[in-house]
Amino acid sequence: MNKETLKIGKNTYKVHHTPVNHILMDIDGQFNSISNRERLLINPFNGCSHKCLFCFTNNRFNNSTFRLFRENNIITVLKNIAEVLAKQLDEKRLDGLVYLSPSTDPFQLLNSRYNVTETILSELTKRNIPFALSTKGRISGTAIDYLTGNSRSFAEISILTLDDEVRKKLVRGEAISTESQLNLIDTLTKRGIRTIARIDPVYPYINDDKDMLKELIEKLKALNVRTIISSCAKIPVITEAKNMEDLKAFNSNLIERYNTLYNYRDSEFIYADINYRMSIFRFLKSICAEKNMDFRLCLEYDNRGISLDKRL
Ligand code: SF4
Repeated sequence: MNKETLKIGKNTYKVHHTPVNHILMDIDGQFNSISNRERLLINPFNGCSHKCLFCFTNNRFNNSTFRLFRENNIITVLKNIAEVLAKQLDEKRLDGLVYLSPSTDPFQLLNSRYNVTETILSELTKRNIPFALSTKGRISGTAIDYLTGNSRSFAEISILTLDDEVRKKLVRGEAISTESQLNLIDTLTKRGIRTIARIDPVYPYINDDKDMLKELIEKLKALNVRTIISSCAKIPVITEAKNMEDLKAFNSNLIERYNTLYNYRDSEFIYADINYRMSIFRFLKSICAEKNMDFRLCLEYDNRGISLDKRL
């Protein structure tokens, strides 16, 4: 990627190359109907440097900035997003929670350079608005202070495995190690911050070993985590060929096993066999029940669109 500038619509942007390819963009839009909302979802970055296997986000959205990431590996930093949000919050009251970032990681590498996430949290904290953070990265000390200051705010740490070598093959960018994630969870819970662990997703035949999952839940329990959220990896249709090729990093017959297991598709995703999914989820739920922890699924449905949470 040697481009120095690029054009989006009428505007030309300078392409920065460190620490990863990115452009800085000012948004002039509004967040839709901010008042009376239970949740406001905010993505200060369009694109994500964690590079997770089967990342659904960067395949799913079709606006120009997500396409820019997908096709040219350039992340867009919405640098004035906190300012736009603050202005709107001053005009209209938000009754619910702000969620960062549903679609990209708020603590990816670029955040340590621009602190966009902390700037948003500062505006929310000034207005006593609760927020949720979901990350595989390092939550900064400033953000931890903001979390500590609002008892309705919480953090979700996405921890996939206890084996850091496996994690590196699943999260191929600049996320933090498994040990650092456990230390982060320890710090958060010791500060009294509600902390949810996401074993999300479970990749069949990669991080689905039941002994490891049990040990992971036990460690999380020992660190005072009360809730686990999980899902099973879905293959985005739009990048199916590339995703299957990526499985070669694990072992040579994994592609064949996935081809057999992933037996249902809709327009967006290909899903693992329902019996496989139910078996893993029931196992996780049973371990959580033994440890007196809550267990929930994220976006898991059967072929008729019924939530699998209801079938557990
Ligand atoms: S952290 Fe989330 S958004 Fe980032 S690459 Fe991984 S799955 Fe995608």
